[in-house]
Amino acid sequence: MESEKIAFITGGSRGIGRACALELAKAGYNIVINYAGNTDAANKTVEDIKALGVSAHAYKFDVSNKEEVEKNIAQIIEKHSRIDVLVNNAGITRDDLFIRMDEDKWNSVINTNLNSAFYVTKPVVKLMMKQRFGAIVNMASIVGVYGNPGQANYCTAKAGLIGFTKSLAKELGARNIRVNAVAPGFIATDMTKDLKNTEEYLKLIPLKRMGTPEDIAQAVKFLAVDSTYITGQVLEVDGGLVI
Ligand code: NAP
Repeated sequence: MESEKIAFITGGSRGIGRACALELAKAGYNIVINYAGNTDAANKTVEDIKALGVSAHAYKFDVSNKEEVEKNIAQIIEKHSRIDVLVNNAGITRDDLFIRMDEDKWNSVINTNLNSAFYVTKPVVKLMMKQRFGAIVNMASIVGVYGNPGQANYCTAKAGLIGFTKSLAKELGARNIRVNAVAPGFIATDMTKDLKNTEEYLKLIPLKRMGTPEDIAQAVKFLAVDSTYITGQVLEVDGGLVI
């Protein structure tokens, strides 16, 4: 099962990122995850990945901090030599109505969910260009396509990631690097556990359930590993919430 190929998932310790890490491990990839602060969750995910017969390493750094990202990605590249799959997944919410949204809420979400992709992807793409191979999947959201009241910061960041995805797909296709995005709907993770009105959302979802992290991981693996001629796409995985 041991493979030469490496997949790097930001925010890979919990929720959707953890499911992506496990799914890519099942596909034979050695896994590198990043996380912000919850070392217990990261260690548990590393152990669960190793149990699948591939290697797993966790790096703690803040993806919104350019210096930390540069230092840690340089270390990751030095240790693991290559990165075949990058999943830009780390993200946060700090919801508020726009009229009440302060600059701190705006900047923290834009920095963590959007600027992080700029910081992380730059050194990884340099490596992928040398490899003449790579697949990048950016974790957007359906609200980045359709908007959502109370989430102007988050929707703006996710819409930005979609523009980033399409532009990089056009720039990097000739280097054999594919760039796609997944836009999840309403997924059961720590991020959504305190949401109110869950019953109201469920009425709007044709599949009549929240998505699981594994539902999203399947789509990420499809775009990153199974597909070969798909680039610049945004795959909505939302149980039919927006049709
Ligand atoms: P989650 O359960 O809260 O997990 C977030 C992950 O990101 C954790 O591993 C966390 O690390 C990491 N993280 C957060 N801030 C970070 C930072 N500054 N630097 C490095 N890592 C950081 O969230 P989730 O629901 O799985 O969401 C994952 C992605 O999917 C996000 O981009 C989110 O916007 C997107 N998404 C989620 C939903 C949904 O319904 N859940 C829907 C659409 C899109 P720690 O464990 O150390 O905190």
